Amino acid sequence: MFALYGWSAKRWTFDKERVMDTMLRVVRRAKPKTILVSCSDPDFQGIFRHLCTEELKLEEGQVFPITIMGGGLVLAESANRKEERNSVGGQIEDALTEFNSITTIVLVGHADCRRVRLNENQTKRCLQEAGVTTQDCFPNSEIRLFYVGFESIEELPLPRLADIAST
Ligand SMILES: [Zn+2]
Repeated sequence: MFALYGWSAKRWTFDKERVMDTMLRVVRRAKPKTILVSCSDPDFQGIFRHLCTEELKLEEGQVFPITIMGGGLVLAESANRKEERNSVGGQIEDALTEFNSITTIVLVGHADCRRVRLNENQTKRCLQEAGVTTQDCFPNSEIRLFYVGFESIEELPLPRLADIAST
């Protein structure tokens, strides 16, 4: 029993060093380029990371994450999430004030989101509406929209305000 304990204690030491090396590394004086507004749904965190590293080609320290149930969708007026919308809007504003290195705001919506309960087409439309509102509030930032499905990630075009108003 004692020997077994010693063995696992040794392994624990090894793992601890690995954790220190990979997870607790602080990027000092990071210059984030992109605000990422995404959902806190645990099912999707892996693919959101993939979106950052593979699709957006962002490195550690280049993302300013804003995580909220519903993600970018809460910024659409039709999502009827006024408190969340104000909270996220305030966080974006703070981030832009704090880091003048930020050029882009990425809004993410995903399939089967528990917060908004919309089908695929409705989710995409909601995300585009959120994009238009966000562009209106933050005209100096580039807005990009991503719909994350179960099998693929799709970038949606940002419609012009007039297109949304006429539909
Ligand atoms: Zn969600």
